[in-house]
Amino acid sequence: VLRCNDLSKTFGSQVVLDSFSCTLHQGEVMGIVGPSGCGKTTILSMIAGLEQPSSGTVERVSPDLRIAYIFQESRLIPWFTVRENISFVLDGERLKGRVSEVIRDALHAVGLDRYADYYPDQLSGGMRQRVALARGLAYEPDVFLMDEPFSGLDFPLRMQMIDFLNTLLTETGISVMFVSHDTREITHLCDRVAVLHGSPGRLSRIMDLQPKDRRKGHPGYLQKMED
Ligand code: ATP
Repeated sequence: VLRCNDLSKTFGSQVVLDSFSCTLHQGEVMGIVGPSGCGKTTILSMIAGLEQPSSGTVERVSPDLRIAYIFQESRLIPWFTVRENISFVLDGERLKGRVSEVIRDALHAVGLDRYADYYPDQLSGGMRQRVALARGLAYEPDVFLMDEPFSGLDFPLRMQMIDFLNTLLTETGISVMFVSHDTREITHLCDRVAVLHGSPGRLSRIMDLQPKDRRKGHPGYLQKMED
């Protein structure tokens, strides 16, 4: 669905990324790993169009490709309810009267049907991150860019979120670029992984990982734990 061609980035006089290339296929989860500061977040920012490459290009399969960015912290607005946090990013014109339905479906997908009127500080960290996922889903993306989305969660919850995400991806066919420092997350979730090294970051190789059973988790599972 998208291709990075020789992406390089310089901030001022500092070269932070040197010639990164990879292809993300439909329905694929591509991990990006490498030492701190090697430019992983910068790659996602360039794919999202938040930063311009100093050289190289990002090719999208279609100009209408929809990309949702999920950050390390949930970045919810504290004085908005869950529903308002989601509706805030939606394009009412494009959805034409489907806004409530889209929000309901997204909250259902992350097992938070009953929490639409809660405020972020009434939810646990894991639930807030699931709201962030629901907000991404409601955007009806083709691609998720995920930047250490679960690193603020403890280990058991992180693994549950990975199972849960695997199921969600099976059901939606969304493709993912997934930045993480956690090799367990990468091996459980990703189909391939791009390994960077050095500073500026350079691609050392793209490794194939074991095929994934994306049905392992179950969307109701997390909610049942909380009930
Ligand atoms: P980490 O694993 O620690 O999150 P990373 O691999 O994601 O790191 P980036 O956040 O992409 O690395 O940053 C790569 C380098 O670019 C760092 O040295 C950082 O300080 C620098 N950098 C990132 N964004 C900017 C910016 N907007 N202006 C100047 N320098 C920046």
